[in-house]
Amino acid sequence: MRTTQPAIQLSGVWKRYPSTEEPAVRDLHLTVYRGEILALLGPSGCGKTTTLRLIAGFERPDAGTVALNGQVVAGEGRFVPPERRGVGMVFQDYALFPHLTVAENIAFGLSSLPRAARRERVRELLRLTGLEDVPDRYPHQLSGGQQQRVAIARALGPNPQVLLLDEPFSNLDTELRLQMRAELRRLLEHLRITAVLVTHDQQEAMAIADRMAVMLAGHIEQIDTPEKVYHYPVNRAVAQFVGQATFVPARLNGVLAESDLGRFAFEPRASSPELVELLVRPRDVSLEADPQGIATVLSRQFQGSETVYLVQLPCGVQLQTSQPSYVDIPPGTRVRVRCNRARLAAFDRHAQIGVTAPPGSDSRPKRSGPVDENSSGHHAPSDNPEASTRATSR
Ligand code: ATP
Repeated sequence: MRTTQPAIQLSGVWKRYPSTEEPAVRDLHLTVYRGEILALLGPSGCGKTTTLRLIAGFERPDAGTVALNGQVVAGEGRFVPPERRGVGMVFQDYALFPHLTVAENIAFGLSSLPRAARRERVRELLRLTGLEDVPDRYPHQLSGGQQQRVAIARALGPNPQVLLLDEPFSNLDTELRLQMRAELRRLLEHLRITAVLVTHDQQEAMAIADRMAVMLAGHIEQIDTPEKVYHYPVNRAVAQFVGQATFVPARLNGVLAESDLGRFAFEPRASSPELVELLVRPRDVSLEADPQGIATVLSRQFQGSETVYLVQLPCGVQLQTSQPSYVDIPPGTRVRVRCNRARLAAFDRHAQIGVTAPPGSDSRPKRSGPVDENSSGHHAPSDNPEASTRATSR
């Protein structure tokens, strides 16, 4: 459970590897609170692993500071080596010792404990990670999920205050990934440990994390709850990275945003241009066959639990939407597009500039609410009731 005390703080951290021109991380500011599970999400090469390595002490920052529990461990002329940081790390390939058994792998980092205490701690870790039945097996005699549990147990052995996990599920098949995600989340909550998990899989980040930090080109673009990052991304790049996104143009007329999806009251955050774009996620709209509808179904792809439709809007945009699979509308059908959400994020070319509100709501511009200290000035609405807005034939 997240507290208000920072466990990890990176302030203005820069890191460039000697053989490269571009810094791997640039001006990184990141606070992870005690007990929080934070997912660091971003495409390959954006600097996620470098960030973990800076926290663990495997890399030194060129500038800026890294602090753990309020103590600077790197920067300001200080550098605390990895073994004295109280940080456990689970590597992508698990890095188990092939010639040691499960119990011996787990005991590896516990050499400072007396023999009896070490045995007891290993037993406790085997129980905690569900490995009681396989203490004498070697890594090659284990399933992928069991190997991962050994790596986690070994990292937890010395009771670290912070656990860092680098793509912990990447070697597991889909079903096992889902199971291990849930298991890991339960374990971390049970131990109330602060964890940072690196992944390039947005669903994984959303499923496991209290908050997620989206990193692009060495910089954290947004850090917030998965819900806010998904529905109210700070810019188009984040919107596009964390899921399917369609941008539907809207014209601002006073405080009304008029679009092919209907008219929305608009709550601006900055001086707004006349033309904006509304972010529409696949589940944000529903379709209804209607000869008077303004849109046309272009294609339909049955996918089992849902059906994906591509719909042509009069503005020229092709909208991708997921509908329950019992909704069966053939291509070529005229449809009514109904917006299911009360608020949609609105963008200019670069940044999110406000949100829409449902028709009938108070459309006077509101004063900005509290801004999450870590959210790059992003202001998401505090309430978000489901509402229905109709786009009908004009
Ligand atoms: P991935 O998801 O592919 O693991 P990442 O987001 O974790 O990527 P990093 O491994 O942190 O990214 O790499 C960030 C940048 O730094 C990349 O351009 C990478 O090529 C470069 N880089 C990483 N490690 C080194 C190194 N030891 N020497 C030189 N360049 C490196």
